[in-house]
Amino acid sequence: MNQAKVNQKPMLVAGPCSAEGREQIMFSIEQAKARNVDFVRISLWKPRTKPGFDGLKEEGISLLAEAAQMGVNPGTEILVPSQAQSVMDGVLPSLGADGKLLLWIGARNQNHYVQQEIARVAAQDSRVHLMLKNQPWHSESHWEGIVDHALEGGMAPENLILCHRGFTPDVHHPNPSGLRNVADNEMAMRIKEKTNLTMLLDISHIAGAVDKLDEVAMDGAEFNYDGMVIEVHPNPRFAWTDAKQQITWDQLDTMLGKLQAGRVIEKKAVLA
Ligand code: PEP
Ligand code: MN
Repeated sequence: MNQAKVNQKPMLVAGPCSAEGREQIMFSIEQAKARNVDFVRISLWKPRTKPGFDGLKEEGISLLAEAAQMGVNPGTEILVPSQAQSVMDGVLPSLGADGKLLLWIGARNQNHYVQQEIARVAAQDSRVHLMLKNQPWHSESHWEGIVDHALEGGMAPENLILCHRGFTPDVHHPNPSGLRNVADNEMAMRIKEKTNLTMLLDISHIAGAVDKLDEVAMDGAEFNYDGMVIEVHPNPRFAWTDAKQQITWDQLDTMLGKLQAGRVIEKKAVLA
């Protein structure tokens, strides 16, 4: 995060890649609460390249409601408007007036009609925030189009959040570190500037592996992101999805400490 953001608390969306069961999620909610994260990931629908575990689906909605009752704002990906509606019906009654529910449209969900209709559902309650992840392929205009579709669906800009999760590596964009997805931080900043929306960096889906997270986070810290999405699991080695890129809550503390230290060094350099 750059100097302008030094005194502003970055937004943090943290929790497991997928919700796997009650015990895992209760632990995640407690850890998220202890750290005052903005949203805990309790993701119920997982788009898969090939068939496999694709989420607890409707069965897990009560877990988001429990998070809301415990004073922690929950978040999940949704794939279609009816899922957005089911989550809202199940969670909003448990959410206080100041509470927030995060729904997000994932990278693979590139049907403009579905995007608009999800936005139409989400726009019904001002406590619902909709996060738009960029599409997998490298295109600025397509990403801008996702924002336009959400606005067209009636979403209020103050309830829209953008998230850069990198682009699938291709021959035109070098990937010397072998990341899962290649970030284009300059593009993310241009879109942030043009749309005037909150822009988060999903370091987990860019890195793809724990040993590359620090590098992605440190690179991102050079830009004016408003916060981060990060996958955190009670026992990453045994995660049902994205096991290679998830860290523990203790490791998250270490990473946030390093980022904080980086910012302090940056600040000292400016003052010197
Ligand atoms: C996710 O955030 O759970 C996810 C699947 O990421 P993406 O849509 O960016 O691939
Ligand atoms: Mn994941």
